[in-house]
Amino acid sequence: MGRPMPLEGPLEDAFGRRIRNLRVSLIDRCNFRCTYCMPAEGLEWLPRDEILTFDEIERLVRLAVTLGIDEIRLTGGEPTLRPQLPELIARLSAIPGLKSLALTTNGFLLRKLVPDLAAAGLTRINVSLDTLDAHKFAAITRRNAIKAVLDGLEALEEVPSIHPIKVNAVAVRGFTTDDDILAFAELARRKPYVIRFIEFMPLDADGHWDRMQVLSGDEIKRIIEAVYPLVPVRVGASSTARVYRFADGSGEMGFINPVSQPFCASCDRIRLTADGQLRTCLFSIDETNLRDPMRIGAPDSELELLLRHAIWRKELKHHINEGPSFKRASRSMSQIGG
Ligand code: SAM
Ligand code: SF4
Repeated sequence: MGRPMPLEGPLEDAFGRRIRNLRVSLIDRCNFRCTYCMPAEGLEWLPRDEILTFDEIERLVRLAVTLGIDEIRLTGGEPTLRPQLPELIARLSAIPGLKSLALTTNGFLLRKLVPDLAAAGLTRINVSLDTLDAHKFAAITRRNAIKAVLDGLEALEEVPSIHPIKVNAVAVRGFTTDDDILAFAELARRKPYVIRFIEFMPLDADGHWDRMQVLSGDEIKRIIEAVYPLVPVRVGASSTARVYRFADGSGEMGFINPVSQPFCASCDRIRLTADGQLRTCLFSIDETNLRDPMRIGAPDSELELLLRHAIWRKELKHHINEGPSFKRASRSMSQIGG
Protein backbone atom coordinates (compact mmCIF):
# COMPACT_ATOMS: atom_id res chain seq x y z
CA MET A 1 0.00 0.00 0.00
CA GLY A 2 1.24 3.49 -0.83
CA ARG A 3 1.85 6.33 1.59
CA PRO A 4 -1.20 8.15 2.94
CA MET A 5 -1.84 11.67 1.65
CA PRO A 6 -0.28 14.17 4.08
CA LEU A 7 -2.84 16.52 5.66
CA GLU A 8 -0.21 19.09 6.53
CA GLY A 9 3.20 20.22 5.30
CA PRO A 10 4.12 20.98 1.70
CA LEU A 11 1.93 19.99 -1.24
CA GLU A 12 3.02 16.73 -2.83
CA ASP A 13 1.63 14.06 -5.08
CA ALA A 14 1.49 10.31 -4.65
CA PHE A 15 4.76 9.97 -6.62
CA GLY A 16 6.65 12.20 -4.20
CA ARG A 17 6.78 15.29 -6.43
CA ARG A 18 6.70 18.52 -4.43
CA ILE A 19 4.44 21.15 -6.01
CA ARG A 20 5.87 24.68 -6.02
CA ASN A 21 4.61 26.34 -9.15
CA LEU A 22 1.06 27.53 -9.91
CA ARG A 23 0.04 28.93 -13.28
CA VAL A 24 -3.03 31.10 -13.12
CA SER A 25 -5.03 31.87 -16.25
CA LEU A 26 -6.63 35.30 -16.02
CA ILE A 27 -8.78 35.16 -19.12
CA ASP A 28 -9.54 32.72 -21.93
CA ARG A 29 -9.81 35.39 -24.66
CA CYS A 30 -6.95 36.42 -26.89
CA ASN A 31 -6.16 39.16 -29.41
CA PHE A 32 -4.08 36.73 -31.55
CA ARG A 33 -5.18 33.53 -33.25
CA CYS A 34 -2.00 31.47 -33.39
CA THR A 35 -2.65 28.57 -35.72
CA TYR A 36 -1.15 26.01 -33.29
CA CYS A 37 -3.44 27.25 -30.50
CA MET A 38 -6.78 28.70 -31.67
CA PRO A 39 -9.01 28.63 -34.75
CA ALA A 40 -9.30 31.84 -36.82
CA GLU A 41 -12.82 32.51 -35.55
CA GLY A 42 -11.77 32.20 -31.90
CA LEU A 43 -13.45 29.92 -29.37
CA GLU A 44 -16.58 30.08 -27.31
CA TRP A 45 -15.50 32.49 -24.55
CA LEU A 46 -16.35 32.01 -20.89
CA PRO A 47 -19.18 34.23 -19.61
CA ARG A 48 -17.78 37.01 -17.43
CA ASP A 49 -19.42 35.80 -14.22
CA GLU A 50 -17.72 32.41 -14.55
CA ILE A 51 -14.27 33.99 -14.45
CA LEU A 52 -12.58 34.34 -11.08
CA THR A 53 -12.56 37.84 -9.63
CA PHE A 54 -9.34 39.42 -8.35
CA ASP A 55 -10.50 38.71 -4.79
CA GLU A 56 -10.98 35.03 -5.63
CA ILE A 57 -7.63 34.77 -7.40
CA GLU A 58 -5.85 36.48 -4.53
CA ARG A 59 -7.49 34.20 -1.98
CA LEU A 60 -6.46 31.03 -3.83
CA VAL A 61 -2.92 32.26 -4.47
CA ARG A 62 -2.53 33.26 -0.82
CA LEU A 63 -3.69 29.81 0.27
CA ALA A 64 -1.39 28.09 -2.22
CA VAL A 65 1.58 30.14 -0.98
CA THR A 66 0.90 29.15 2.63
CA LEU A 67 1.07 25.54 1.39
CA GLY A 68 4.52 25.98 -0.15
CA ILE A 69 3.83 27.26 -3.67
CA ASP A 70 6.47 29.93 -4.24
CA GLU A 71 6.23 30.63 -7.98
CA ILE A 72 3.17 32.09 -9.66
CA ARG A 73 2.87 32.63 -13.39
CA LEU A 74 -0.03 34.64 -14.82
CA THR A 75 -1.16 33.52 -18.24
CA GLY A 76 -4.23 32.97 -20.44
CA GLY A 77 -5.59 33.37 -23.16
CA GLU A 78 -3.87 36.73 -23.27
CA PRO A 79 -3.42 37.99 -19.69
CA THR A 80 -2.82 41.60 -20.75
CA LEU A 81 -6.45 41.70 -21.92
CA ARG A 82 -7.58 41.39 -18.32
CA PRO A 83 -8.60 44.88 -17.21
CA GLN A 84 -6.54 46.32 -14.31
CA LEU A 85 -3.80 43.69 -14.62
CA PRO A 86 -1.23 45.83 -12.70
CA GLU A 87 -3.64 46.02 -9.76
CA LEU A 88 -3.78 42.22 -9.55
CA ILE A 89 0.00 42.00 -9.85
CA ALA A 90 0.41 44.49 -6.99
CA ARG A 91 -1.96 42.45 -4.82
CA LEU A 92 -0.21 39.16 -5.56
CA SER A 93 3.34 40.49 -5.27
CA ALA A 94 2.54 41.64 -1.73
CA ILE A 95 1.80 38.07 -0.58
CA PRO A 96 4.49 37.06 1.93
CA GLY A 97 6.41 33.94 0.89
CA LEU A 98 5.96 34.37 -2.85
CA LYS A 99 9.41 34.26 -4.48
CA SER A 100 8.58 34.72 -8.13
CA LEU A 101 5.70 36.40 -9.94
CA ALA A 102 5.84 35.92 -13.70
CA LEU A 103 3.74 36.75 -16.74
CA THR A 104 3.43 34.93 -20.07
CA THR A 105 2.18 37.21 -22.84
CA ASN A 106 2.07 37.53 -26.60
CA GLY A 107 3.57 40.99 -26.09
CA PHE A 108 1.14 42.92 -28.27
CA LEU A 109 0.06 45.31 -25.49
CA LEU A 110 3.31 45.17 -23.61
CA ARG A 111 5.06 48.41 -24.55
CA LYS A 112 2.57 50.67 -22.76
CA LEU A 113 2.10 48.28 -19.84
CA VAL A 114 5.76 47.71 -18.94
CA PRO A 115 6.20 50.60 -16.45
CA ASP A 116 2.98 49.70 -14.61
CA LEU A 117 3.84 46.00 -14.51
CA ALA A 118 7.28 46.77 -13.08
CA ALA A 119 5.88 49.22 -10.53
CA ALA A 120 3.32 46.61 -9.45
CA GLY A 121 6.08 44.10 -8.65
CA LEU A 122 6.26 41.78 -11.66
CA THR A 123 9.66 40.06 -11.56
CA ARG A 124 9.75 37.73 -14.57
CA ILE A 125 8.30 37.64 -18.06
CA ASN A 126 8.00 35.34 -21.06
CA VAL A 127 7.07 36.85 -24.39
CA SER A 128 5.88 34.48 -27.11
CA LEU A 129 7.32 35.11 -30.56
CA ASP A 130 7.62 32.33 -33.11
CA THR A 131 9.47 34.00 -35.98
CA LEU A 132 11.25 37.28 -36.70
CA ASP A 133 9.89 37.39 -40.24
CA ALA A 134 6.96 39.85 -40.36
CA HIS A 135 5.05 37.89 -43.04
CA LYS A 136 5.41 34.58 -41.28
CA PHE A 137 4.48 36.24 -37.98
CA ALA A 138 1.25 37.47 -39.57
CA ALA A 139 0.59 34.02 -41.00
CA ILE A 140 1.03 32.21 -37.70
CA THR A 141 -0.72 34.70 -35.39
CA ARG A 142 -3.25 35.86 -38.02
CA ARG A 143 -2.40 39.39 -36.87
CA ASN A 144 -0.08 41.98 -38.39
CA ALA A 145 1.61 42.75 -35.12
CA ILE A 146 5.30 41.90 -35.01
CA LYS A 147 6.40 45.50 -34.54
CA ALA A 148 4.30 45.91 -31.40
CA VAL A 149 5.81 42.74 -29.93
CA LEU A 150 9.39 43.80 -30.71
CA ASP A 151 8.68 47.25 -29.25
CA GLY A 152 7.34 45.56 -26.11
CA LEU A 153 10.55 43.55 -25.80
CA GLU A 154 12.63 46.71 -26.18
CA ALA A 155 10.58 48.43 -23.48
CA LEU A 156 11.45 45.55 -21.15
CA GLU A 157 15.14 46.26 -21.64
CA GLU A 158 14.58 49.54 -19.78
CA VAL A 159 13.34 47.86 -16.58
CA PRO A 160 16.01 45.81 -14.80
CA SER A 161 13.52 44.64 -12.13
CA ILE A 162 11.82 42.35 -14.67
CA HIS A 163 14.53 39.83 -15.41
CA PRO A 164 15.39 37.73 -17.35
CA ILE A 165 13.52 38.62 -20.55
CA LYS A 166 12.54 35.26 -21.97
CA VAL A 167 11.24 34.77 -25.49
CA ASN A 168 9.37 31.55 -26.24
CA ALA A 169 9.11 30.27 -29.80
CA VAL A 170 6.93 27.31 -30.72
CA ALA A 171 8.65 25.34 -33.48
CA VAL A 172 6.51 23.59 -36.08
CA ARG A 173 8.06 21.42 -38.79
CA GLY A 174 7.04 22.73 -42.19
CA PHE A 175 6.78 26.26 -40.80
CA THR A 176 9.91 26.93 -38.75
CA THR A 177 12.92 27.01 -41.09
CA ASP A 178 16.67 27.05 -40.53
CA ASP A 179 16.53 30.77 -41.30
CA ASP A 180 13.99 31.37 -38.52
CA ILE A 181 16.12 29.38 -36.09
CA LEU A 182 19.36 31.16 -36.96
CA ALA A 183 17.64 34.56 -36.81
CA PHE A 184 16.66 33.74 -33.22
CA ALA A 185 20.20 32.61 -32.40
CA GLU A 186 21.47 35.94 -33.73
CA LEU A 187 18.85 37.81 -31.68
CA ALA A 188 19.95 35.93 -28.56
CA ARG A 189 23.55 36.99 -29.25
CA ARG A 190 22.63 40.59 -29.91
CA LYS A 191 20.00 41.24 -27.24
CA PRO A 192 19.62 40.40 -23.55
CA TYR A 193 16.86 37.89 -24.34
CA VAL A 194 16.89 34.22 -23.36
CA ILE A 195 15.28 32.54 -26.35
CA ARG A 196 13.67 29.16 -25.86
CA PHE A 197 12.20 26.88 -28.48
CA ILE A 198 9.15 24.85 -27.45
CA GLU A 199 8.03 21.69 -29.20
CA PHE A 200 4.55 21.74 -30.69
CA MET A 201 2.16 19.81 -28.43
CA PRO A 202 -1.28 18.30 -29.17
CA LEU A 203 -3.08 21.15 -27.41
CA ASP A 204 -4.31 23.06 -30.48
CA ALA A 205 -8.07 23.70 -30.39
CA ASP A 206 -8.40 22.53 -34.02
CA GLY A 207 -7.03 19.11 -33.17
CA HIS A 208 -4.75 19.19 -36.23
CA TRP A 209 -1.56 18.32 -34.35
CA ASP A 210 0.43 15.64 -36.05
CA ARG A 211 3.61 14.03 -34.71
CA MET A 212 5.29 14.81 -38.04
CA GLN A 213 4.98 18.53 -37.22
CA VAL A 214 7.07 18.22 -34.07
CA LEU A 215 10.44 19.79 -34.77
CA SER A 216 12.48 18.51 -31.85
CA GLY A 217 14.69 20.64 -29.64
CA ASP A 218 17.69 18.46 -30.57
CA GLU A 219 17.13 19.10 -34.27
CA ILE A 220 16.97 22.84 -33.65
CA LYS A 221 20.04 22.73 -31.44
CA ARG A 222 22.03 20.96 -34.19
CA ILE A 223 21.06 23.68 -36.68
CA ILE A 224 22.29 26.38 -34.28
CA GLU A 225 25.44 24.52 -33.28
CA ALA A 226 26.54 24.14 -36.88
CA VAL A 227 26.98 27.91 -36.92
CA TYR A 228 27.29 28.96 -33.27
CA PRO A 229 28.74 26.33 -30.91
CA LEU A 230 26.85 25.99 -27.62
CA VAL A 231 27.96 25.05 -24.10
CA PRO A 232 25.49 23.57 -21.57
CA VAL A 233 24.44 25.70 -18.61
CA ARG A 234 23.51 24.02 -15.33
CA VAL A 235 19.83 24.57 -14.39
CA GLY A 236 17.59 23.58 -11.45
CA ALA A 237 16.11 20.05 -11.35
CA SER A 238 12.57 21.22 -12.06
CA SER A 239 13.55 23.41 -15.02
CA THR A 240 11.60 22.52 -18.14
CA ALA A 241 14.34 23.88 -20.40
CA ARG A 242 17.75 22.56 -21.37
CA VAL A 243 19.85 25.70 -21.43
CA TYR A 244 23.02 26.53 -23.38
CA ARG A 245 25.19 29.58 -23.81
CA PHE A 246 27.19 30.53 -26.87
CA ALA A 247 30.73 29.18 -26.61
CA ASP A 248 32.27 32.42 -27.83
CA GLY A 249 30.56 34.78 -25.40
CA SER A 250 27.29 35.88 -23.89
CA GLY A 251 23.75 34.94 -24.82
CA GLU A 252 21.62 31.93 -23.85
CA MET A 253 19.25 29.64 -25.66
CA GLY A 254 16.92 27.04 -24.19
CA PHE A 255 15.05 24.04 -25.52
CA ILE A 256 11.77 22.93 -23.98
CA ASN A 257 11.21 19.43 -25.29
CA PRO A 258 7.99 18.09 -23.75
CA VAL A 259 7.37 15.67 -26.64
CA SER A 260 10.83 14.29 -27.46
CA GLN A 261 12.24 14.45 -23.91
CA PRO A 262 9.34 14.59 -21.43
CA PHE A 263 10.12 16.13 -18.04
CA CYS A 264 7.05 14.81 -16.19
CA ALA A 265 9.21 13.09 -13.52
CA SER A 266 10.34 16.45 -12.18
CA CYS A 267 7.14 18.39 -12.87
CA ASP A 268 6.30 20.72 -9.98
CA ARG A 269 3.43 22.57 -11.67
CA ILE A 270 -0.32 22.85 -11.31
CA ARG A 271 -2.71 25.15 -13.16
CA LEU A 272 -5.80 27.17 -12.35
CA THR A 273 -8.07 27.97 -15.29
CA ALA A 274 -9.72 31.37 -15.65
CA ASP A 275 -12.97 29.80 -14.40
CA GLY A 276 -11.36 28.43 -11.28
CA GLN A 277 -10.74 24.80 -12.17
CA LEU A 278 -7.56 23.22 -10.87
CA ARG A 279 -5.63 21.10 -13.41
CA THR A 280 -2.72 18.97 -12.32
CA CYS A 281 -1.35 18.37 -15.84
CA LEU A 282 -1.58 20.14 -19.21
CA PHE A 283 -3.07 16.88 -20.46
CA SER A 284 -5.55 16.36 -17.61
CA ILE A 285 -8.93 15.02 -18.60
CA ASP A 286 -10.53 15.98 -15.33
CA GLU A 287 -10.38 19.05 -13.12
CA THR A 288 -11.17 20.10 -9.56
CA ASN A 289 -13.65 22.90 -9.20
CA LEU A 290 -12.34 25.40 -6.65
CA ARG A 291 -14.58 28.27 -7.75
CA ASP A 292 -17.98 26.90 -6.79
CA PRO A 293 -17.03 25.74 -3.27
CA MET A 294 -15.40 29.14 -2.75
CA ARG A 295 -18.55 30.91 -3.97
CA ILE A 296 -20.82 29.00 -1.58
CA GLY A 297 -18.66 29.88 1.39
CA ALA A 298 -16.11 27.07 1.79
CA PRO A 299 -13.50 27.98 4.40
CA ASP A 300 -9.78 27.83 3.53
CA SER A 301 -9.48 24.47 5.33
CA GLU A 302 -11.93 22.96 2.83
CA LEU A 303 -10.20 24.52 -0.17
CA GLU A 304 -6.88 23.22 1.16
CA LEU A 305 -8.28 19.71 1.32
CA LEU A 306 -9.57 19.98 -2.27
CA LEU A 307 -6.12 21.13 -3.36
CA ARG A 308 -4.33 18.36 -1.50
CA HIS A 309 -6.60 15.65 -2.90
CA ALA A 310 -6.28 16.92 -6.47
CA ILE A 311 -2.50 17.22 -6.24
CA TRP A 312 -2.15 13.79 -4.65
CA ARG A 313 -3.77 12.36 -7.80
CA LYS A 314 -1.52 14.33 -10.18
CA GLU A 315 -0.93 12.40 -13.40
CA LEU A 316 2.32 10.43 -13.49
CA LYS A 317 3.09 11.57 -17.06
CA HIS A 318 1.63 12.52 -20.37
CA HIS A 319 0.94 9.84 -22.98
CA ILE A 320 1.76 11.77 -26.16
CA ASN A 321 4.27 9.13 -27.21
CA GLU A 322 2.09 6.10 -26.46
CA GLY A 323 0.10 5.86 -29.67
CA PRO A 324 -3.60 5.11 -29.38
CA SER A 325 -3.63 5.27 -25.55
CA PHE A 326 -3.08 9.05 -25.82
CA LYS A 327 -6.26 10.99 -25.10
CA ARG A 328 -6.37 14.70 -25.85
CA ALA A 329 -6.75 17.04 -22.90
CA SER A 330 -10.24 18.19 -21.97
CA ARG A 331 -9.39 21.76 -23.04
CA SER A 332 -7.02 23.40 -25.49
CA MET A 333 -3.93 25.45 -24.55
CA SER A 334 -5.55 28.89 -24.42
CA GLN A 335 -8.41 27.57 -22.30
CA ILE A 336 -6.06 25.90 -19.86
CA GLY A 337 -3.45 28.60 -19.41
CA GLY A 338 -0.18 27.51 -20.93
N1 SAM B 1 -1.21 34.39 -24.96
C1 SAM B 1 -0.05 34.25 -24.18
C2 SAM B 1 1.13 33.85 -25.04
O1 SAM B 1 0.93 33.45 -26.17
O2 SAM B 1 2.25 33.92 -24.53
C3 SAM B 1 -0.19 33.29 -23.03
C4 SAM B 1 -0.98 32.03 -23.27
S1 SAM B 1 -0.28 30.93 -24.45
C5 SAM B 1 -1.48 29.63 -24.46
C6 SAM B 1 1.10 30.28 -23.55
C7 SAM B 1 2.18 29.59 -24.37
O3 SAM B 1 1.64 28.42 -24.94
C8 SAM B 1 2.71 30.42 -25.52
O4 SAM B 1 4.12 30.49 -25.44
C9 SAM B 1 2.29 29.65 -26.74
O5 SAM B 1 3.20 29.78 -27.79
C10 SAM B 1 2.24 28.24 -26.20
N2 SAM B 1 1.41 27.31 -26.99
C11 SAM B 1 0.14 27.49 -27.42
N3 SAM B 1 -0.30 26.40 -28.09
C12 SAM B 1 0.73 25.51 -28.08
C13 SAM B 1 0.90 24.19 -28.60
N4 SAM B 1 -0.07 23.56 -29.26
N5 SAM B 1 2.10 23.57 -28.39
C14 SAM B 1 3.10 24.20 -27.71
N6 SAM B 1 2.99 25.43 -27.18
C15 SAM B 1 1.82 26.09 -27.37
FE1 SF4 C 1 -3.35 33.75 -28.03
FE2 SF4 C 1 -1.19 32.87 -26.79
FE3 SF4 C 1 -2.89 31.13 -28.00
FE4 SF4 C 1 -1.40 32.75 -29.49
S1 SF4 C 1 -0.65 31.14 -28.10
S2 SF4 C 1 -3.62 32.37 -29.74
S3 SF4 C 1 -1.26 34.55 -28.27
S4 SF4 C 1 -3.33 32.36 -26.25
